[in-house]
Amino acid sequence: MVQETKWHSWFTGNLPKGCAQCVQGRKLVLFITGKCGQSCYYCPVSEKKFGHDVVYANEWQITDPDNPTELLEEAKLTEAKGAGITGGDPLMNVNRVCDYIELLKKEFGERFHIHLYTPLQLVTEKNLSRLYEAGLDEIRFHPDIDDEKWWGRMELALKFDWAMGVEIPALPGKDVETMHLIDYISDKLDFINLNELELSDTQVSHYKLNPEEHEPKDELSYGVKGSKDMALRMARYAETKGLSAHFCTAKLKDAIQVGNRMKNRAKNVALPVDKVTEDGLLIRGVLYIEGLEPGFDYQERLINTSVDLEAKRTELIKKNLFKEHEIFIDVPKKRFIVSRRKLKRYAKELKRIWYVPAITEEQPTSQSLELEIDYL
Ligand code: SF4
Repeated sequence: MVQETKWHSWFTGNLPKGCAQCVQGRKLVLFITGKCGQSCYYCPVSEKKFGHDVVYANEWQITDPDNPTELLEEAKLTEAKGAGITGGDPLMNVNRVCDYIELLKKEFGERFHIHLYTPLQLVTEKNLSRLYEAGLDEIRFHPDIDDEKWWGRMELALKFDWAMGVEIPALPGKDVETMHLIDYISDKLDFINLNELELSDTQVSHYKLNPEEHEPKDELSYGVKGSKDMALRMARYAETKGLSAHFCTAKLKDAIQVGNRMKNRAKNVALPVDKVTEDGLLIRGVLYIEGLEPGFDYQERLINTSVDLEAKRTELIKKNLFKEHEIFIDVPKKRFIVSRRKLKRYAKELKRIWYVPAITEEQPTSQSLELEIDYL
């Protein structure tokens, strides 16, 4: 029977281990490169990443991919128990993938579960063998459902002792093609994972979902109408073939996977002056330096302005506005995180000396993205 999980997803058979950790926010999402030789019309990768050889650990862009200490830091801050490697086509940089798998296993142990998603273009016995030797636990293929020419490459994975599956979006109107794929893999691979198809404003140029054919299912969601029904039909079909299936909704990703990860991270990055909300957001007292508050050209202003934050902090303490333990420097954003009580009390005085006091609600991510700013 296809059953609903408590995480807004559906499954039949066994839930893949990669998914079980992911729904708890315990999987680090490791975007290994934006390079990819495919041009799927539903590609969910943003323009900022697609085609660029960039690495992200969750939302954190790794400064130097050859020295990925930030990757380990992000895994620790989010209390990750595993990683899901994605792209782009990760096999475009198979050396990096293998190095990172080895690094993560060395740092967090053999039980740190790693799965990888890959289209078929670069799937060869040699590449699979390298991934297996590096310690990959689970491989998820992303075949072109309209073209069978490379499907046979999935069978190369049968030579290795790992979990194997297919991961594709649930495309309304593609029942016949998806059923054909299920027929093909049902006696070979362990599972199919279907993702709810989503619309977005920031997709790559080869993204050709016709907004008239693919409407959002409701005003609150980017999920495409018909994708969920199609996925459930396919899960029931997979069940008749004895294949495990999991349908992962947009809501699961936003509310559960990312939400749980935020909560884990918030616990570890909150400063003593921060308040952590139930949703894992941070309520903060923030002291921006005038001219460096968020707004037009924010990143450019941050890059082009040099400020002696240590000296400014000392001055604010000397003026008796904050005590040592009530004011922290936020280097990337060139601002201070301070006691909310003191910020409110001294707001007028702080404005007089060219500061911009505000109470913010922020994501606990590497970018500390402000979701709300309440200027005092
Ligand atoms: S969906 Fe995946 S395989 Fe297809 S173009 Fe985008 S990154 Fe490449």
